[in-house]
Amino acid sequence: MPLRPVARLLREARALLAAADCEQPALDARLLLQEAAGLSHGDIAAEPERRIEAAAINIFESFIARRQRHEPVSRILGQREFYGRQFRVTSDVLDPRPDTETLIEAALALKHPPARILDLGTGSGAIIVTLLAELPGATGLATDLSPAALEVARGNAEALGVALRLAFAEGPWWAPVTGRFDLIVSNPPYIPTTVISGLSPDVRDFDPHLALDGGADGLDAYRRIAAGAASHLNPGGRVLVEIGAGQALDVEALFQSHNFIHDSNHSDLGGHVRCLVFHPG
Ligand code: GLN
Repeated sequence: MPLRPVARLLREARALLAAADCEQPALDARLLLQEAAGLSHGDIAAEPERRIEAAAINIFESFIARRQRHEPVSRILGQREFYGRQFRVTSDVLDPRPDTETLIEAALALKHPPARILDLGTGSGAIIVTLLAELPGATGLATDLSPAALEVARGNAEALGVALRLAFAEGPWWAPVTGRFDLIVSNPPYIPTTVISGLSPDVRDFDPHLALDGGADGLDAYRRIAAGAASHLNPGGRVLVEIGAGQALDVEALFQSHNFIHDSNHSDLGGHVRCLVFHPG
């Protein structure tokens, strides 16, 4: 049925998404229609009776079908805003979360701005690319086990103008890392393996499990990071890690067992401790 008006398309899509238990059916439907029809939020608000071409409707309907299967809007659009910048997101990388902006704030609040930064398990590159964009004097190294993720991170570094200051290395944790840094950051996989199957489908079916699975107790990555961090830090350097809900005490104890001193905790907007800062003792 060609040339249906905006308001009706949105109403129909909203009902489908609500029936599929999507949490924000109205917002999702609008964002997907904007992308499918090449319209702005303002266009949609100003002209609810505007008629949409059949070709755009086809695209919109395919987007809505994907969202009904709980594919996140950011993955359908192929991009996600993080700390005010647009990042390309593919099935090879964790969808950057607003919670991770807590780690960015904590890094930017350090008393001595870091000149050399390492991001372990960079995924989309959201953390290191943001930090280099915010700190124009800094350079960085981004690692990941996944070559496909590193390609996405490289593309984001180029698109956001920091590629000349960022190197990439493929491999697990410390294996591909040489040299020392003023700041080591990581948002590692931290979900206990058996919990993954019970996560919401938006996460479980679309985020790469490599980026989620933290081993039997969720803490495997922190063990690896804590074991190698001291020998890759410059004097006065800091380690900042994101953690999952309820992991603060365990992760503090782990770093303390490797002679680190706990500097501070940073909470997300939901009030959960999200980021821990350490320095070598
Ligand atoms: N560093 C990336 C991010 O925070 C990826 C993290 C991960 O894959 N666990 O988005």
